[in-house]
Amino acid sequence: MIPKTNPKSTSIQAAAVIGSPIAHSLSPSIFLFIAHRVQKTLDYRAREIASGELGAFIQEVRDRPDFVGFNVTLPHKESILKHLDQLAPEVQVIGAANVVHRQGSELKGYNTDVDGILRTLRRHQPFRAQTYWKNTLVVGAGGAAKAVAYALASTGAQCISFLNRNRERSEALVQTFSKSFPKTQFRSLTVDGLSGLPQPIDLFVNATPVGMSGKSLVQTSLFESIFGNDKVSPSESALAFDLVYSPENTAFCEWAKRRGIVSVSGLEMLVEQALHTWEIWFGCLPESKVDWTQALMEYLRHRPIFLTGFSGAGKSTVGAVLAKKLNWAFLDTDRLIEQSAGMPVSEIFSTQGEARFREIESQVIQANGFSPKTVIALGGGALQNPTVLSQTQKTGKLVFLKTKSSTLLKRLQSSPEPRPLLHPLGEQSIQALLSRREATYQKAGFQVETDDLSPSEIAEQIVKSIQLG
Ligand code: NAP
Repeated sequence: MIPKTNPKSTSIQAAAVIGSPIAHSLSPSIFLFIAHRVQKTLDYRAREIASGELGAFIQEVRDRPDFVGFNVTLPHKESILKHLDQLAPEVQVIGAANVVHRQGSELKGYNTDVDGILRTLRRHQPFRAQTYWKNTLVVGAGGAAKAVAYALASTGAQCISFLNRNRERSEALVQTFSKSFPKTQFRSLTVDGLSGLPQPIDLFVNATPVGMSGKSLVQTSLFESIFGNDKVSPSESALAFDLVYSPENTAFCEWAKRRGIVSVSGLEMLVEQALHTWEIWFGCLPESKVDWTQALMEYLRHRPIFLTGFSGAGKSTVGAVLAKKLNWAFLDTDRLIEQSAGMPVSEIFSTQGEARFREIESQVIQANGFSPKTVIALGGGALQNPTVLSQTQKTGKLVFLKTKSSTLLKRLQSSPEPRPLLHPLGEQSIQALLSRREATYQKAGFQVETDDLSPSEIAEQIVKSIQLG
């Protein structure tokens, strides 16, 4: 039962995602996006927690009433269980939790992947609310495959077959799930033993990381042996569900499409399980679920690109070129600040001071920083504000345009725009300010050296590096 609470509560609540490594987690983006949309102040952080630090982190959560809960990722999904006071039914069977909710002094573990899987499948096959999946073939036998097995078996699936590299693992899974769900038939198969597969198949699932960005595609031969094989016949309404969420179109989806099978990306599941997490922590969301799913997917597909770097690095020029290349919107925070204050940046500095300028700048970035398909050129000192640094790192892709002081001087000398913090304008004043800011610029996830490149070449490099990241 999900507790109903007021999502617009004004008190600041804390939440986190824990794991190791954690830098590339999309959870901060997802939960801060939702918080922004429902106007809730949520202090959500990605916390690098090594195995030996789990106990101390749990104690911190117990000691902090502002903590509403946390997401759990590798390597803690199983080891977290011994630290919890209550386990949701699916966690007891799967043996892994990905969400913890602090309920008074107690910590309860959930596995929201189960609900994410069911919501995703039902969006594509609404008739499954009445019927069930007869024959499912799951590639993989790890944590995600267990969530698939629980989701399908708990809703009446007839037969679920697991095809895994390590046969012992899939056999162990079959044993555990057969005990918990005696009405469902579970099988462990090998590629050579596919002829024993009950037919036709109405759901194909990839629950391995094969096809994920940055991972080798060598194992696509595995999918070839499934989809390129006459021994496997899909039902008329068959679906292929790849749990991998980046990229959206994987080798598995491609194989399925070639066989005329509709494919579904793991991005939807990622979003659905996060929406369910929010409901566990804070109660139901104010708008319809379909709107939230679509809005979050659109945001995750096209998170804003923030350009940072010193005055004269080319943020505005490159930003406009990049936006045009991507067919995205372009925003320059200095221009937005001028609109908001009704005066030029130099006048805000001279009449109201730098502190007031930074305050307006932070508000402007907060208001616009969750816009999908937008390139945002930041002011040269914006990242000095820790709130801005943290937001841009979490909610978008932060790119540093790195430029030598000699190049900056040449560019600034030929620009008519006054630079309030560079008096007198010279290589020395540039170097002094640059050395104070360099450390925060370096926190950007991507960096391009701009000195010998045209704005178009810089934009091209950003497009490439963002795709690789
Ligand atoms: P896991 O527990 O480590 O299990 C990985 C599974 O993949 C194992 O069965 C493993 O086989 C198999 N595998 C790994 N590399 C392989 C390869 N090169 N060829 C064939 N099989 C391979 O991981 P998991 O937690 O189940 O996650 C699996 C995938 O699901 C990941 O890509 C993860 O990102 C994704 N996932 C997505 C969501 C979402 O919301 N969309 C949620 C959870 C997980 P062996 O047993 O033989 O090693």
